[in-house]
Amino acid sequence: MYNGIIVRYCEIHLKGKNRGYFENMLKDNLRDSLKGINCKFVPMRSRYLISDYDESDLVRIVSALKKVAGVHTFSPVLVVNNDIEEIYNAVKMVLADKKGTFKIITNRADKTFYPDSMGVSRLLGERVLNDFNGKLSVDVIEPEFPISVDIREDGKTFVYSQTIKGMSGMPVGSAGRGLMLISGGIDSPVAAYSIIKRGMKLDLLHFHSFPYTGEAAKQKVIDLSEKLSVFNGGINLYVAKFTEIQEEIHKKCPEEYMITIMRRFMMRIAERLSLRNGCQAIITGESLGQVASQTVESITSSNSVVERLPVLRPLIAFDKLDIIEISKKIGTYDISVLPFEDCCTVFLPKFPLIKPDLEKVKRVECVLDVEGLIKRVLDGIELIKL
Ligand code: ATP
Ligand code: MG
Repeated sequence: MYNGIIVRYCEIHLKGKNRGYFENMLKDNLRDSLKGINCKFVPMRSRYLISDYDESDLVRIVSALKKVAGVHTFSPVLVVNNDIEEIYNAVKMVLADKKGTFKIITNRADKTFYPDSMGVSRLLGERVLNDFNGKLSVDVIEPEFPISVDIREDGKTFVYSQTIKGMSGMPVGSAGRGLMLISGGIDSPVAAYSIIKRGMKLDLLHFHSFPYTGEAAKQKVIDLSEKLSVFNGGINLYVAKFTEIQEEIHKKCPEEYMITIMRRFMMRIAERLSLRNGCQAIITGESLGQVASQTVESITSSNSVVERLPVLRPLIAFDKLDIIEISKKIGTYDISVLPFEDCCTVFLPKFPLIKPDLEKVKRVECVLDVEGLIKRVLDGIELIKL
């Protein structure tokens, strides 16, 4: 029945002179997300109209629009001319077969249209009451079927009853590029999603410890990355071999320093890779106090090896239950809970340091060939494009 979809955006309104830049980026991202679907794409004031699509593609389009950062809401609409008869016919179509209460909500951007908004709502409402033989009655407070009539300046009116929530946030790419440290756990995919939503395009970096962690653990991270790639407009997943570093730490450093020093290596490698690939920030899924490696002292220790980039931790103040809720919503939870080993669970010390002292950590680490270890990891890094 519907012959168009109106797409609305939100924060871009606040962008003043840069608004065009953000709008173009959102337009490109929308086009990408609808690749392979035949449709027309019309930019309008503060919104876009998608039209001329095959009705059988509507479900695909709706599903794609839900995954484009920057889209605030969207509505399947009937597009008609600014003509009261055409508008009424559209209202009748939207309400066909309905029984219950309704309300007409008119927005008249075209101020030359007669009558005014209240007048249009009243006129259409009266005709519905007459024509629907008592099946529909008016409820202005809590109608079961609110019908919106949006009369635009360019001669077109949109009639619709449904407003679907999008991701909101900012268009991907508008906030630069970052490198996300992704494990197979619950938190890092949610952190990735939160940052993508704010407009940062992500690359992913995963450390695995073959043969201590197997193919299934790697596949799990590929599956998680695939879920994230939909929001990110494709994604680069870098897989780094962490085994030699872990074995060296295990051999040469006191057991309780294992995780602390591992984290420092992860951050150093992340920074080198970021600088090599033009990433402007490192992102982790850390949440304050969640585990021993996420106390403020542990974060100080891993943070201190990063020299040139900011480390963003979008989940730092999130509770686990809230993180789980988002992971279910974005479809990563069921993959994250699959029981495969992560490199951090290999060589896990019985009593990891909870409050490492930075100076002591540096002394303990002295025995390692830090530069050589990092270089070998970077040389052997694998890129998987998703
Ligand atoms: P997650 O649920 O994301 O695995 P976590 O609660 O298990 O997090 P940690 O194991 O302390 O916490 O990891 C903290 C962060 O370090 C992760 O969110 C992720 O950003 C990064 N990280 C942990 N393991 C890896 C890994 N194998 N590869 C890349 N990054 C990792
Ligand atoms: Mg983990």
